[in-house]
Amino acid sequence: MTTTAGPVTKLQNFINGEFVEPSSGATEDVINPATGEVIAQAPLSTEEDVDRAVAAAKKAFETWQKTTPRERSEMLLKLADAIEEHGDEFADLESADAGKPRQSFIEDELGMCADNLRFFAGAARNLEGKAAAEYVENHTSYIRREPVGVCAQITPWNYPLMMAIWKIGPAFAAGCTTVLKPAENTPLSTFKLAEIAAEIFPPGVFNVIGGHGDKAGAALVRHKDIDFVSLTGSPETGKWIAREAADTLKRVHLELGGKAPVIVFDDVDLDETLEFIAATALFNAGQDCTAACRILASSKVYDDVVSGLAEEAKSYRMGDLNDPQTNLGPVISERQRERVAGFIERKPDHAEVVTGGKAPDLPGFYYEPTVVANLEQNDEMVQNEIFGPVMTVQRFDDEEKAIEWANGTRYGLAASVWTRDIGRALRVTNALRFGAVWVNNHITMASEMPHGGYKQSGYGKDMSMYSVEDYTEVKHVMINIE
Ligand code: NAD
Repeated sequence: MTTTAGPVTKLQNFINGEFVEPSSGATEDVINPATGEVIAQAPLSTEEDVDRAVAAAKKAFETWQKTTPRERSEMLLKLADAIEEHGDEFADLESADAGKPRQSFIEDELGMCADNLRFFAGAARNLEGKAAAEYVENHTSYIRREPVGVCAQITPWNYPLMMAIWKIGPAFAAGCTTVLKPAENTPLSTFKLAEIAAEIFPPGVFNVIGGHGDKAGAALVRHKDIDFVSLTGSPETGKWIAREAADTLKRVHLELGGKAPVIVFDDVDLDETLEFIAATALFNAGQDCTAACRILASSKVYDDVVSGLAEEAKSYRMGDLNDPQTNLGPVISERQRERVAGFIERKPDHAEVVTGGKAPDLPGFYYEPTVVANLEQNDEMVQNEIFGPVMTVQRFDDEEKAIEWANGTRYGLAASVWTRDIGRALRVTNALRFGAVWVNNHITMASEMPHGGYKQSGYGKDMSMYSVEDYTEVKHVMINIE
């Protein structure tokens, strides 16, 4: 089976190294969000398909866990090379089902995916435990880091390929096998990844099944032979998974979005700062859990921040995703566009839509880049993830209030502080309860550094050595040497 972004492709599940029909034969349309056209038929998996995939992953785990770090590392390096070789195809697929401007995917995501895998290839050979020693007389202790086992991995629709890489990279580095379920509306690039991985990894190490969260996803999470569940998605799904996993005490790893505060003090170069903030707020049409979406502006520069962000927003170009000039794609679906529009329709009277706030006259599910000012801390738009091209702006009078409001939502994934005052930058950074804080930057990531939340943004880390450790169990071995 080949996955292409050409005329309607029929996708199949990938189980035990082969593409197979779902047991029910049922499929569902995959829609191009830039046009509304059907581009593929995706399999709808049943419990029987989940069983088959988990059985394949369980069987493969018997031998995969015994491979050497070097072997796993070499396979991950091959996969990184293969992803780059197939870069154009991935760009076509991610553009077709996730609505990404093609050029932006190539410049900002493809290289990162390959780099992530190369990092995990190195990490596979660097897992370590505490030094071996005699902590009790005549008894030598050492630590083994062992793979946690068979994983259920569930990815969202905003970065289909990258999220799949963030899941399989640490799992394979640690010696785990997996059944991955991509989001129902963006399965194309994950099945392509499986096709490429089939040439590199033994059968059963990587299995991919299609379907919705409440059926295929839920059956996977509940499966008795799953040891570890990893989700990137909404807090509601994360809470459901945590409750469901409690019965069998499966290990759980959750990345559940954010509502990143962006604190702008009055001592920065505003032109430069606002250009950067708008770019990171509107990247991927704002469908990013670290998006710079919640701007807190010092009252001294508040008016300039609002007008500057509006000017930036107006400069964004929507439309043909193949045109390198297009830098704003559609949101993922009609449902998501309605969700975004709902926040604007329900806006409180004190708030002002400075620019945008409606769908443009284009096919597909585009939404205009939007700036909403005069918001207050308890407004719905400030408290909840909008996940669209919308920036909200609040005015603060002092540092203390900025910190209080920045911390004042249920999320804790990412934040940024914009100031030239080093003392203030450090004070505010220390006070922020977020898994990542940038100073005079936002969104920039490195494979070596962790990505993951505090509070209801979830627990467990992606990327970095911390994520590989999340996929391991720590075993203490003690030997009587008398
Ligand atoms: P979702 O949580 O429903 O979907 C994410 C993934 O979880 C999908 O693969 C889905 O099929 C799966 N899923 C859903 N219910 C499941 C279940 N019971 N068991 C197993 N898997 C399940 O998110 P959504 O409805 O697609 O989006 C809603 C909102 O979530 C968005 O508007 C956004 O605010 C947020 N979101 C956050 C991220 C993120 O990066 N953290 C990604 C996507 C969406």
